[in-house]
Amino acid sequence: MNSTNSVERWTQEQTQALFDTPLLELIFQAQTIHRQHFDPRQIQVSSLLSIKTGNCPEDCKYCPQSSRYKTGINTEPLMEVEQVLASARRAKAAGSSRFCMGAAWKNPRDRDLPYLEQMIRGVKALGMESCMTLGSLTTTQAEKLAKAGLDYYNHNLDTSPQYYQKIITTRSYQERLDTLDKVRQAGIKICSGGIVGLGESANDRAGLLMQLANLDQPPESVPINMLVRVVGTPLENNQAIDPFDFIRSIAVARIMMPKSYVRLSAGREEMSEQTQAMCFMAGANSIFYGCKLLTMPNPEENSDLKLFSKLGLNPDKQQINQTQTEQMLKIAKRITEPDTALYYNAAD
Ligand code: SF4
Repeated sequence: MNSTNSVERWTQEQTQALFDTPLLELIFQAQTIHRQHFDPRQIQVSSLLSIKTGNCPEDCKYCPQSSRYKTGINTEPLMEVEQVLASARRAKAAGSSRFCMGAAWKNPRDRDLPYLEQMIRGVKALGMESCMTLGSLTTTQAEKLAKAGLDYYNHNLDTSPQYYQKIITTRSYQERLDTLDKVRQAGIKICSGGIVGLGESANDRAGLLMQLANLDQPPESVPINMLVRVVGTPLENNQAIDPFDFIRSIAVARIMMPKSYVRLSAGREEMSEQTQAMCFMAGANSIFYGCKLLTMPNPEENSDLKLFSKLGLNPDKQQINQTQTEQMLKIAKRITEPDTALYYNAAD
């Protein structure tokens, strides 16, 4: 299988064989492929802000924002454009190169589009990449977002088609694929991944990665989440996933989608530094940065900077603009002086 050739398709057997490879051998393969396409010291850093929180009509069983579960989150209507841009400015000052805006909707209403377009234009004017996750889109909506300058659209497939019905019943797998197709047709880059720890089998993890890798063009960004077992959701008592199984999923994602950014997303709060380091070894090269991922805690930026420093990793935006020495001085300063105005809190 030549995974860089988009004409070929991964089969279940080929994907399963990767999952069956001894872990250290698999990580070596993944790291080798990673180095062919990326600087192994570089990490892409994104910030995520919830621009409309909770009260979502969908029934995703892992999600604290579904109106069907009592999770105690504070619901918030769509934020004012200027509030969103103030958060984007703080995220930029804290080193993020991409600003992701998430709304807990089944789909945006047409009357929301002008506000969303203003947010995109404002983020772009700051010199940041923009990303949105808003649920399903119509073709016209995707085109409007593209025209406003949206760089990325996030819409996760979550899991394999076979396991999907156990997790979500209010939106079909095909509807998700259709939205990804509309986004791609509109010329927006795709961010799409899934969640490990939903109770799925290794076959299902293989099925998810096959779906993503076999898209006509694989997603440019592939977030791999570790389930956060939120009290009040149907999955609150799920068994914790073995970190090695998570690392294995990262490595397989890197091998199957060699040119994509593979992002450590939700669940990092529960990962040790060593687990995160092994994820980077396995080919992860992007993280969400900021105290909250939508409504879930995320390691404080300061601890991320310390980990970057220990591992010799460079947040990419800063690497573009600064020499390594300048960058490390800036990181060291931020580590010793964390409570500055630059300290971004996505929950603001
Ligand atoms: S994951 Fe998204 S679509 Fe599903 S319930 Fe949560 S906010 Fe709604």
